[in-house]
Amino acid sequence: MPTVPEVSLHLADAVNRIHISPTMAVLMEAEKLKARGIDVADFGPGEPDFPTPEHIKRAAIRALDENRTKYTPTGGIAPLREAVCEWHAKNLGSAYQAKEVIVTSGGKLALFNAISALVNPGDEVLIAAPYWVSYPDIVKLPGGTPKFISTREDENFCLRAADVDKAITPKTRLLIANSPNNPTGAVIPQDEFARILEVCQRRGVWLLSDECYSHFVYGGAKPFSIASLPGAKDSVIIAGSLSKTFAMTGWRMGYALAPEPLIAAMIKVQSQTISNSTSIAQYAALEALRGPMDSVGVMLAEYERRRKRIIAGLRAIPGVTCTEPQGAFYAFPKVPARGGKGAGDSAQIARDLLEKEHVAVVPGDAFGAPGHLRISYATSLERIEEGLRRLTHYFTAA
Ligand code: PLP
Repeated sequence: MPTVPEVSLHLADAVNRIHISPTMAVLMEAEKLKARGIDVADFGPGEPDFPTPEHIKRAAIRALDENRTKYTPTGGIAPLREAVCEWHAKNLGSAYQAKEVIVTSGGKLALFNAISALVNPGDEVLIAAPYWVSYPDIVKLPGGTPKFISTREDENFCLRAADVDKAITPKTRLLIANSPNNPTGAVIPQDEFARILEVCQRRGVWLLSDECYSHFVYGGAKPFSIASLPGAKDSVIIAGSLSKTFAMTGWRMGYALAPEPLIAAMIKVQSQTISNSTSIAQYAALEALRGPMDSVGVMLAEYERRRKRIIAGLRAIPGVTCTEPQGAFYAFPKVPARGGKGAGDSAQIARDLLEKEHVAVVPGDAFGAPGHLRISYATSLERIEEGLRRLTHYFTAA
């Protein structure tokens, strides 16, 4: 018998550079407890607890009935690319044409496509910390080097143009800005954002603006896109998502807006990965963008109520400090050690909370901010009350 060579399990360096998403890991642990019948106060998920609006679901069913189940153009069906432009112009004040849009499977793929199209091995990508968990690993996949710019809790975690200017080196290819921010809820004030854009343009650095939470801003603030500023379009890439805005996380619908040659490069990347976003989901997205927006207002009002309650509840726990999130649906408190004294080890606290109190949170370590916990308030007021009771019990235990 000829000997069969052993298959090597030596994985590719690119895979060894990255981690499984820590937020997904928390989700899986919480699900295991729930499967055992345990009542978990779940502050883990970064997704709306609302169902996808009926009119959007019906559009998908219609698409199925009409057999819209075949491959589509890689960049998305033509009416959807048009609809993204129209919706963005109407709600966020930009002026894009269909050829400057790519429809992707979620905002995450929009980021992946943009970074794959722009970053060479050794290029540096600036990321404001605390940051969304996936940015560093998406940058590392093509061999890029993430470089972090710290933001300060006492400045509400806002990214500052002066710090961007200082962090840029000859190797810097792009800056990722995320406003409203996951995990802090920080919203970069518009004048500061304009200064950040000015720095990027002066220093020849792309500005990749992740605007997935654009429609969840509080206190009557208006959704904002950096693309609405005069002269911005040539140097910014907008990553957008229908996941949060329309409670469509499972549909995997997102988009990017960028100058045409860059969109063409992103289409090239996407043509060798997913080919196209799911056809039926694209028709649902078309309805989301062209149909009524009432459900977005309903969700925003509910998040606003929850935000008030959770921030007050967290601040009432001895030793916990918490900035007021201006957008998205996360609180990002700094937590003490159990018993309320000294600095806490947030990774240990998150494990403890799940095990002892059955409260699911994501440790700040995952976002480059040890000492903090990310608490999603995309859950009912009733569950928030229960979770706050358990958190208070944990931190005040002797
Ligand atoms: N960007 C940020 C800041 C996020 O929080 C998320 C999801 O949690 C995404 C992008 C990706 O969302 P999706 O791929 O579901 O559109």
